[in-house]
Amino acid sequence: MARVRYVTKLEQIKQLSDSEYRRLKPVADKYAFRASDYYLKLIDWSNPDDPIRRIVIPHIDELREFGDLDASGEQTNYVAPGCQHKYPHTALLLCNEVCGAYCRFCFRKRFFMPGGNETERDVAPGINYIRKTPQITNVLLTGGDPLMLSSRRIEAILSQLRSIPHVGIIRIGTKMPAFNPYRIIDHPQLTATLSRYSTREKRIYLMVHFSVPQELTDRAMLALDMLMKCGVVVANQSPIIRGVNDDPDVLAELMRKLSFVGVPPYYFFQCRPTVGNEPYELSLVETYQALEEAKKQVSGLAKRARLVMSHETGKVEMVGLSNEHMYLRYHRARDPKNEGRFMIFHRDDEAYWLDDLIPVQYPPHPVHTHGHREHHAIGPE
Ligand code: SF4
Repeated sequence: MARVRYVTKLEQIKQLSDSEYRRLKPVADKYAFRASDYYLKLIDWSNPDDPIRRIVIPHIDELREFGDLDASGEQTNYVAPGCQHKYPHTALLLCNEVCGAYCRFCFRKRFFMPGGNETERDVAPGINYIRKTPQITNVLLTGGDPLMLSSRRIEAILSQLRSIPHVGIIRIGTKMPAFNPYRIIDHPQLTATLSRYSTREKRIYLMVHFSVPQELTDRAMLALDMLMKCGVVVANQSPIIRGVNDDPDVLAELMRKLSFVGVPPYYFFQCRPTVGNEPYELSLVETYQALEEAKKQVSGLAKRARLVMSHETGKVEMVGLSNEHMYLRYHRARDPKNEGRFMIFHRDDEAYWLDDLIPVQYPPHPVHTHGHREHHAIGPE
């Protein structure tokens, strides 16, 4: 019998007072609520600002007017039902619209809303597209959370992908080790499947999502250990979120613990300006400074992650900040001519997103014209 129960109605949470429930019900009606009883037990209910609480329990300020439903313009990336292809070597298969719990700051909350229909249980059209597109060497299974699918279904998808010679890496984006580690611990069929398809020549990568050190419980660490023993490579990615992990000490503790268990931080994300996300947003400068302060407290292995913004035009890394300027660079670009492009913007401590920034225009700083390389100090086209 399953050891973890999913909770989909706010009224099931006994720790919420009647008045809190009445206040938050309209928020949960607008942006879906879901949690697991395992995850809810990690909340310190005596602390109204508990970070785990902020991750899954609705906040009244989500009702404030803010952002876009699809802040990264993902709708423009579809090449087949349930299949996005934005960067040459990587395709996404959106194979499930449910997660173990719903992060309040999710950038894909449109999937969980009435009318959300971007995921596809039938992955055949996406797999056919990948099969006939040889430059795709990486496939990311995402959603929702692919580990919410049955083990048999996951096996079917992995076996089809492994029959495509040009697909090397299969990535699975999942927060299940944090929301419900028993999905790994209690399911030998899942671990056996991962073990079968993560081979010496072609690994499976589990892109896990731990945002605060409290999520790295003994059970979560056991699940991670089991995954690694299957031959799966595990790496972490998380947004930096106001009131959750924006304190450099918290962030440093998270990075340190992840490095100890062998799960290197891979990406930290600028929280996307998605509808309902206003209470969770930090400005770009705040995000950058929190991460830089945290980096001072940890070893090299714990701070290899890049800070990126998943913008419609590409993955933009924030690489530097001065009193006057902000320095950004395309880590991945939709348009190949932007690949690696370095950009300088006027410092704006209120800016949340690339579109908020004003580029420094020509002429470039003399250091750029006298050196060997010329930097084009301009913004995205
Ligand atoms: S686990 Fe990922 S996809 Fe699911 S709710 Fe959280 S951020 Fe969104």
